[in-house]
Amino acid sequence: SMASPALLMRVVASAYSVAEKAATIVRNVMSAGDLGIVEKAGPNDLQTKADRLVQMSICASLARKFPKMTIIGEEELPTDDVTEDLIEDGHCEEILKKPCPAQYTGIKEEELVIWVDPLDGTKEYTEGLLDHVTVLIGIAYGGKAIAGVINQPYYNYEAGANAVLGRTIWGVLGMGAFGFQLTEAPAGKHIVVTTRSHSSALVNECIAALNPDHVIRVGGAGNKVIQLIEGKASAYVFASPGCKKWDTCAPEAILHAVGGKITDIRGNSFQYNKEVKHMNSAGVLATLRNYDYYASRIPNTVKESLVP
Ligand code: AMP
Ligand code: MG
Ligand code: MG
Repeated sequence: SMASPALLMRVVASAYSVAEKAATIVRNVMSAGDLGIVEKAGPNDLQTKADRLVQMSICASLARKFPKMTIIGEEELPTDDVTEDLIEDGHCEEILKKPCPAQYTGIKEEELVIWVDPLDGTKEYTEGLLDHVTVLIGIAYGGKAIAGVINQPYYNYEAGANAVLGRTIWGVLGMGAFGFQLTEAPAGKHIVVTTRSHSSALVNECIAALNPDHVIRVGGAGNKVIQLIEGKASAYVFASPGCKKWDTCAPEAILHAVGGKITDIRGNSFQYNKEVKHMNSAGVLATLRNYDYYASRIPNTVKESLVP
């Protein structure tokens, strides 16, 4: 008889379904029309009803199935009881059927740390730039991002009425990543993707030093890593604090699962143990290929301005 699936694969399979439920909530809040926008640190740091409901849905759904995991979500919410309609208890059968990479078969529930960004790209969501939005569920073990789920609720929303709206990308280190077509960026071109709503003089100075052929400014850390793995951009460069561990955990696992690399601007890898500081103070540098090319061209003055 078949051995029961490894814990990691059960968590990823559940996170997949939980992220699909989250995407439905994101779309439903938008179509209902009342976003319930709250400013957190200021006008460029927003929370909507979708951020709140999705975080409750993801955290409560995963905690019910895997009560010993540590789950860290972006939003600070009152600890009210979550209504049953927000709970997702399904899982993706296809993921459960795949063998767990050998190095992860012995993982115990209490050893996993889940980093949840219920809605990445909130500013863009409130401005109708809907395909910038993602739902991020990152899975960390031993301080490393080892698996992740990225749902893009409005994937295909400009492709017409017949297109299937939304998609779920997932990956595990040592296994690969699925739900998209891995594509190389145009050879010999330097296309940088960066923030749209959190620019600064340093962000722009750093990009200028790379002398790119083209700069794409879009919202969301999840969305920017999708641009890398689909060949739309060759480097994600963000020389600023502001990104947090829940922004980078799921994208990192998926990028690393397909051979890419993400670090801070100074080349330090991110840590995802539960005690870690949430802020990625020294920015983000990520590529699918040619990481060293970009890393070697980040000016020292920029690196010195960003303290980890
Ligand atoms: P962006 O590339 O601007 O969409 O940022 C990626 C992620 O980091 C999003 O979740 C942002 O909310 C977050 N972020 C980046 N910079 C800041 C900032 N200055 N203040 C608050 N959040 C930020
Ligand atoms: Mg975010
Ligand atoms: Mg968010």
